[in-house]
Amino acid sequence: MNEFSFHNREKILSELTASQFDLIIIGGGITGAGIALDAASRGLKTALIEKNDFAFGTSSRSTKLIHGGLRYLKQFEFGLVKEVGSERAILHKLAPHLVVPEKMLLPLYEKKGLGYWLTSIGLKVYDLLAGVKPEDQRRMLTKLQTLKYEPLLQHDVKGGAIYAEYRTDDARLTIEIMKTAAQHGSMALNYADVKDFLYSNNTISGVKVEDQLSGRAFSINGKVVVSAAGPWVDELREVNKSKQGKRLHLTKGVHIVLPREKLPVAQAIYFDVEDGRMIFAIPRGRTTYVGTTDTNYEGSKDNVVTSHDDAQYLLNAVNTMFPSLHLKMEDIESSWAGLRPLIHEEGKSASELSRKDEIFESSTGLISIAGGKLTGYRKMAERVVNLVAKKYFNDRDLKECFTDKIKFEASEFANFKEVKQYISAIFQKLKLSGFSELTARYLVENFGIQTDLILKQYDARSAHENPELSLLKAELWFCIQYEMITGLQDFFGRRTGLINFDIHRVIKWKLEIANECKSLLNWSEDKMASELKVLDELIHSVQNFNVETLDTRQ
Ligand code: FAD
Repeated sequence: MNEFSFHNREKILSELTASQFDLIIIGGGITGAGIALDAASRGLKTALIEKNDFAFGTSSRSTKLIHGGLRYLKQFEFGLVKEVGSERAILHKLAPHLVVPEKMLLPLYEKKGLGYWLTSIGLKVYDLLAGVKPEDQRRMLTKLQTLKYEPLLQHDVKGGAIYAEYRTDDARLTIEIMKTAAQHGSMALNYADVKDFLYSNNTISGVKVEDQLSGRAFSINGKVVVSAAGPWVDELREVNKSKQGKRLHLTKGVHIVLPREKLPVAQAIYFDVEDGRMIFAIPRGRTTYVGTTDTNYEGSKDNVVTSHDDAQYLLNAVNTMFPSLHLKMEDIESSWAGLRPLIHEEGKSASELSRKDEIFESSTGLISIAGGKLTGYRKMAERVVNLVAKKYFNDRDLKECFTDKIKFEASEFANFKEVKQYISAIFQKLKLSGFSELTARYLVENFGIQTDLILKQYDARSAHENPELSLLKAELWFCIQYEMITGLQDFFGRRTGLINFDIHRVIKWKLEIANECKSLLNWSEDKMASELKVLDELIHSVQNFNVETLDTRQ
């Protein structure tokens, strides 16, 4: 049976309690997943523990770009831009179906933003720092060319620039890295909350965990414990009584999702807003999403939601940029909100804080990593594992980091051309059942070559059922067998992204999918009812923004 099957949970749990690990990682976001892959592939016996679902935290709530962070140039963070900029090409090579090239349009206006020449030089520096291939380097555009790229823009646009970025799905990237780590021997468990640490001679020697599904408490022994708990890093430092010196500064970022026909941008666009910030509008499937806000946050970390002010701020931004559209609150069909776990710097506003990662070590041996970006996860992981290897496993002949060469199971494509050919082959097959090309693209961009497994399952069951439902059930089967989902939110949220990008489909099929879960996961009537209730609350929270604003806008 697959290491990542939900049905394997009991076995994983008993192995976790019975073994002595070299490294225990707390947190199954992109940072934890990256560390697990790096450590396991170098030869460390590794376990990763996540208190919710994998990628439940910030790693399913980002702008979903693998980017160098153009705006960090404005803050003179050349090192950060160089590192994450160069990572883009590596990640595209590792997972061409999941890290997809996306040209970004930057419109230029009189007396707004950096102006033509500074933008031209800035983007050139950006390309050079990131080592972008000549054919992909930035191109400055005349007014006419800019309007041709994006006819929705106002005619007072002075010109523009087009430059290379990549888009991804953050939660899918996290889960694929986690699965690859498991292939290299790492163990991983979701819905397992680290409540405390084990100590021996004043040094951490493991963690005390509570299984969130059964309520059972258990311990895991390990020589080194790394906390990659994102926004929760300081909470664990408090448990370890080591929260001194630097601390986290959480800022909230919100995205809203609109039907593509309401915001029909021809391509991804990055534009200035009145308050000096910059906003993305990114087409994806049948929608366009817009983000992000950046506000100080002090509310609950476990329930971060979009407020009315957040949604209004983003709507105003798009309506100012594209006045002909007259977008209204009712046009928003979904949203998500996440927290940036940044390092506090006295006197700096939310937007001015550095996005650089930092490592803290406590006197009892807890290693915590915070800050950073989705894009830079591989290098962050390398730094942490280098530190662990040097300090604790000097006597072992561990390999050097080689995660830049480890392809994910889902990405057995030599290049992006092969991905496109595969999408087209899948479409040829699916169109016989009435599906559009968008469905083929959705499947391949989410699941890569694992689409074959899903379609085999679909073929086996589609005879007497609505094809759309059949396909969804086949995806569900796959996620239970291979991706450790435990319920509806994991499936509709982090494995398929449907809550964000096709919420109508979630509403249409939630009962049938809940029934299928009931039979595949052995749910009782009560369990099914409570899963549906939680899903309904989630649907309500991403569509309704009447909650109080707990954050402070800068
Ligand atoms: P998380 O993803 O939050 O993972 C931490 C995990 O630890 C959580 O899943 C949590 O449940 C778990 N955990 C906490 N406490 C415990 C415990 N006691 N026991 C067990 N588990 C625990 N970066 C980019 O490169 N590109 C972008 O486009 C981009 N856009 C962004 C937009 C927004 C709005 C935000 C907020 C961030 C964005 N970022 C982007 C940054 C990026 O998303 C984050 O840097 C990254 O996701 C952080 O990942 P993480 O693994 O460190 O934290």
